Amino acid sequence: MYKVAKASFAALSLPAFLFAGQAMAANTHDAHSAAAAGNEKEQIRAIVKNIVVDNQSFVNANKASHFAEHIKGQKPRATVVTCSDSRVHTHALDKDPEGDLFMVRDIGNQITTAEGSVEYGVRHLHTPLLLVIGHSACGAVKAAMGDYSSIEAPIKRELDTIKVPGKNAGDNKEVMTSVEANVNNQIAFALQKFAAEVKEGKLAVMGGVYDFRNDYNLGHGKLVITNVNGDTDPTKIKAAGILPTTK
Ligand SMILES: [Zn+2]
Repeated sequence: MYKVAKASFAALSLPAFLFAGQAMAANTHDAHSAAAAGNEKEQIRAIVKNIVVDNQSFVNANKASHFAEHIKGQKPRATVVTCSDSRVHTHALDKDPEGDLFMVRDIGNQITTAEGSVEYGVRHLHTPLLLVIGHSACGAVKAAMGDYSSIEAPIKRELDTIKVPGKNAGDNKEVMTSVEANVNNQIAFALQKFAAEVKEGKLAVMGGVYDFRNDYNLGHGKLVITNVNGDTDPTKIKAAGILPTTK
């Protein structure tokens, strides 16, 4: 198994632009930059190797039958809007997310900055659930709590649409309140946009917070549902009868 993976990696030629940094450093005759770029090249090689090897393991572990249904098409059960943050991933939510979760990811788990993707999941793939997931220690929410005016214009544009009450990004409680508020704003937008689907009972819109920091004290990595079709009151959420009880 490893032999195959190794061969794949050897055959892989990395695009020259990946090492553009090294070339630039050499031109400036900056020994330190050159050394740093050399390390960078090694780092990139290691990352790509991991990806290629892991992918080969995946190929080896999953035969054609695994993909038979996928080849026919996709019928995901949920459209999930979550943050691009590398600490938030599908395996925390679904043991078998392939073909099951239509994932839309951007900074700050926003619908407005990826509206077409969300609409595709809801209106073309007809997922009965739209789930928006924020998370503890969200960098986008923290940035939106402060002054980000000097950041690159494309990033600024994506932060401008995050409206949160918190001002102190150093206060985790305030961050969590803002993370929840951001999720609620996305849900409010979705309820307006997909009002017809929700009214007809074809779509439920829910929001939650993936709490890897355990800020809610309910367990590290707990997905806490904070909004069900606009209801944010925990008693009402419970009364809605949608959430199963877990330990
Ligand atoms: Zn985030």
